[in-house]
Amino acid sequence: MDPIILTKGNIGWSIAKWTFSRTNTTAYLSVIIHANDMFSKNNLEKDVNDLACKLWQEWKSHISENTNLDLLLLPKQASYLKGHRWRYAKVSKIPDKGHMRTNTKHNIALAGDWLAGPRIECAWISGRDAANSLLGRPYYSDITKNN
Ligand SMILES: Cc1cc2nc3c(=O)[nH]c(=O)nc-3n(C[C@H](O)[C@H](O)[C@H](O)COP(=O)(O)OP(=O)(O)OC[C@H]3O[C@@H](n4cnc5c(N)ncnc54)[C@H](O)[C@@H]3O)c2cc1C
Repeated sequence: MDPIILTKGNIGWSIAKWTFSRTNTTAYLSVIIHANDMFSKNNLEKDVNDLACKLWQEWKSHISENTNLDLLLLPKQASYLKGHRWRYAKVSKIPDKGHMRTNTKHNIALAGDWLAGPRIECAWISGRDAANSLLGRPYYSDITKNN
């Protein structure tokens, strides 16, 4: 079954995926909901688990309007519902590349997502850049930009 991806209202992004028990007699629905920037900013200090309930209710109301998922298939209570506050999730300004990131004399280089952006790919690219800078090769991110 295809995952259900939904972006609406206070929900900046969400994905719902089904998994099935070995005997195929039980289906489990796992849902990840990201609040959008405005909602997160306005509710940053509020109780994350109350917010999780709110977003879960909102997700269900959008889902019933926008997909053919029958909500009656779901149990009344989610078996696990947890909110998570991730205060610095989105890097809005990355450090200037002009600043030193590598010291070849001491064979040390900086790496980490904060050097390039908020995603795992950014962490990977920054690690690759750090290795290349120590090996005296061009930065991977510069190569990809030119292609
Ligand atoms: C809840 C959450 C959900 C996420 N979801 C996604 C997603 O869906 N997709 C996506 O692309 N990205 C996602 N990310 C972002 C992604 O996880 C990060 O961009 C990525 O892990 C950053 O990698 P990194 O190597 O830069 O840093 P980290 O993965 O943070 O690694 C840094 C490491 O350094 C260690 N460390 C720190 N200080 C020291 C010290 N003094 N000495 C020794 N070790 C130290 C830490 O223990 C850690 O292991 C998510 C992040 C979080 C928190």
